[in-house]
Amino acid sequence: MTPRRKPRPPGPGSHCTGRTPATETVESGSEPAVHGDSAASPANQVVRVAVPAPLRRTFDYRLPAPDRSGCREPGARVIVPFGRRRLVGVITAVGGSGDLDEDRLRTVFALADAHGPSLPRSLLDLCLWAADYYHAPIGEVLHAVLPPPLRKPPATASQVRNPRWQLVAGDDAPEIPSRAHRQHEALRLLREKGPLTTAELAVMGISATVLRGLRERGAIVPGESADTPADPVAATPPPSGDAPAPNAAQQAAIRAVLAATHEFGCFLLDGVTGSGKTEVYLRIIAEVIAAGRQALVLVPEISLTPQTVSRFADRFGPGAVTVMHSGLSAGERMNAWNGLSGGTASVLIGTRSAVFTPMRNPGVLIVDEEHDSSFKQQDGFRYSARDVAVIRGKLEGFPVLLGSATPSLESLHNVSRGRYTHLILPERAGPASHPVAHLEDVRGMGLNAGLSPPLITRIRANLAAGGQVLVFINRRGYAPVLMCHECGWTADCDGCNTRMTLHRANSALRCHHCGGTARAPRTCPACASAALLPLGAGTQRTEQALTELFPGTPVIRIDRDSTRRRGVHDELSEFMQTGQPCILVGTQMLAKGHHFPGVTLVAILDADTGFMSSDFRGLEKTGQLICQVAGRAGRGSGGGEVFLQTCQPGHPALAPLLAWDYAGFARALMEEREAARLPPFASLCVFRAEAASTDQAMAFLSAAAGTAGAGNDPEVELWGPMPSPMEKRAGRYRAQFVLCSCNRPRIQRLAAAVCRTIEAQPARRDLRWSVDIDPVDLY
Ligand code: ADP
Ligand code: ZN
Ligand code: ZN
Repeated sequence: MTPRRKPRPPGPGSHCTGRTPATETVESGSEPAVHGDSAASPANQVVRVAVPAPLRRTFDYRLPAPDRSGCREPGARVIVPFGRRRLVGVITAVGGSGDLDEDRLRTVFALADAHGPSLPRSLLDLCLWAADYYHAPIGEVLHAVLPPPLRKPPATASQVRNPRWQLVAGDDAPEIPSRAHRQHEALRLLREKGPLTTAELAVMGISATVLRGLRERGAIVPGESADTPADPVAATPPPSGDAPAPNAAQQAAIRAVLAATHEFGCFLLDGVTGSGKTEVYLRIIAEVIAAGRQALVLVPEISLTPQTVSRFADRFGPGAVTVMHSGLSAGERMNAWNGLSGGTASVLIGTRSAVFTPMRNPGVLIVDEEHDSSFKQQDGFRYSARDVAVIRGKLEGFPVLLGSATPSLESLHNVSRGRYTHLILPERAGPASHPVAHLEDVRGMGLNAGLSPPLITRIRANLAAGGQVLVFINRRGYAPVLMCHECGWTADCDGCNTRMTLHRANSALRCHHCGGTARAPRTCPACASAALLPLGAGTQRTEQALTELFPGTPVIRIDRDSTRRRGVHDELSEFMQTGQPCILVGTQMLAKGHHFPGVTLVAILDADTGFMSSDFRGLEKTGQLICQVAGRAGRGSGGGEVFLQTCQPGHPALAPLLAWDYAGFARALMEEREAARLPPFASLCVFRAEAASTDQAMAFLSAAAGTAGAGNDPEVELWGPMPSPMEKRAGRYRAQFVLCSCNRPRIQRLAAAVCRTIEAQPARRDLRWSVDIDPVDLY
């Protein structure tokens, strides 16, 4: 968040959302002062409103007169004056905070929700919980949750199809001349009967011309569309005949979750890749929708491929399945929202933010690949969709199922503390078996674009036997370094402490951190030598080498650059489903969600780069990645082989991974974390700042930490302030401090105190800051 300017006092009273529990709506002791004049109104005429501004508090407003139509419950949208602007806010509670005299309160311009609140009570409670837990401005949380059309004031008639007309409320209602009898008649009808459509008013003798007159005077506004379908969930066909019969472990998992569909429970479905987790989801969802309830499935960003969606659509019928992700248009997102909240859609598959979609009758929430870090929003409103999912299940009373072949240490820890039920699928389902793993020590070997000679031999053998090959290298571009062989100059980014990556296209240099680009020089800028050499390999270079080595075989590259092209996923699945020999080369995008039965060899070129990461989660993420990528091998009946290249063959983390013992790998990591008192045994919170110099960022953080008393609490460790691991990025200098404690309430209290300290100061144009609860990394 960016408090760019000091917020203008909006006039109405305000209070901090503070630590109020999400379910508490009216604080005791907040009785508003009653004044002698007639302006004083009963307490329920004052509401607290969250406005889309970077402020950790709500504002009090007076509601318009009771005869104005529109929803005035918590969760309803209202249009309010804020400074000199009009903003769409959301009522968070009825009854004011009382810190401003009531006669000085400003009045809500208009009630923007005609019927029920846009945010049902349970969803509002979830948002209030998230704002409180993540120390995020409530208005920003609500803004992120509402689909774009609901963030704006109600649309004009040309945008809303078949609107229900509603009265403009309060002081904004214009005077209508007494001779305009028909217009007065229309207003009377709307006042008595609530919002009505043009057709309904026509039946009552009000013409479109009269309505146009009222609109032009600003006396009525178009509210919700009357076209929004409100039919309940359509009956869904039973699972189609070709669904495999679940094995014993799958049955046990399905039964455990279905035994508790009307109460909260959290389950960890821990099953190796190919063990049939998706089949378990499909069976559970089938039962849930047969009972007239709905299912929400969260998937990592990259997994929302047509392949995943079609597997659900094939089972439940295309009409029952809705998707939601950041690539949708505003209208598509609105339709998905309406389908779920109205009850016409049975299943929603979505990425992170879909966790906030209201459901009319929720039956289960599934988080697939729960360990994936894309569930954590890394800027703005920083939240973990997985953790929000669990809280949502608790608030609304339905089961939450977290699935992974490589569960996060957090979830495994919750299992060992008895909070989550552990459901294990120990074997691959159907005919598939574990692939054979081979570790290749490549120290001192001459590599061709990252490929060792023994690997090239294995690729050749697999292709000759009719197999498909997957080559994994976690670096896109052509080469990570462009260096002068004469003087050692390297192409660095001007804005960041990092090297630029060489991309083959136009020989461009690109910074993967700030997006900066430059043309690669022909001669060294330092010594004018022509001996500029690309060092190391990225996906493009490996692709080129493989094309030269295997001229008759198609080579397909999958990374963020190649998949910008629309339809590349379709092309890829088509290719892979035909099963003809080919080579896929790509980044971690390949590790997720794909089911390629023809793949017989998976090669990991740089398996151990993450072992050297300075971040404490580096090893966990690397291990998960190796398991996930290796899990792509041998998914069909032909068996499979995994080829790992490493420079650290003796690394203790590799042995359990090669033996397909993720549980053993995780156990060893868990012991290290416990000894070091790191998550999941402790909680972390990072405050970050960036400014024109490191000194400014450090001084800001020191002052905030000092004033709030960080460092004085013996139960909360303070690390820093210190420059960030990548100190300079996009031309700005960054610093951070970390709070670490085994006492979560204490760390939360301290984080809130730091936020209050910072917000009490005048906002600074030259400095950005953020708070990150449960960070996924410390960068
Ligand atoms: P995961 O989600 O754990 O990777 P999937 O559900 O995708 O596993 O299952 C992998 C493959 O095994 C799929 O082709 C699926 O249809 C098949 N499969 C799943 N369960 C069974 C079963 N009980 N019997 C036979 N095949 C199964
Ligand atoms: Zn040089
Ligand atoms: Zn850069």
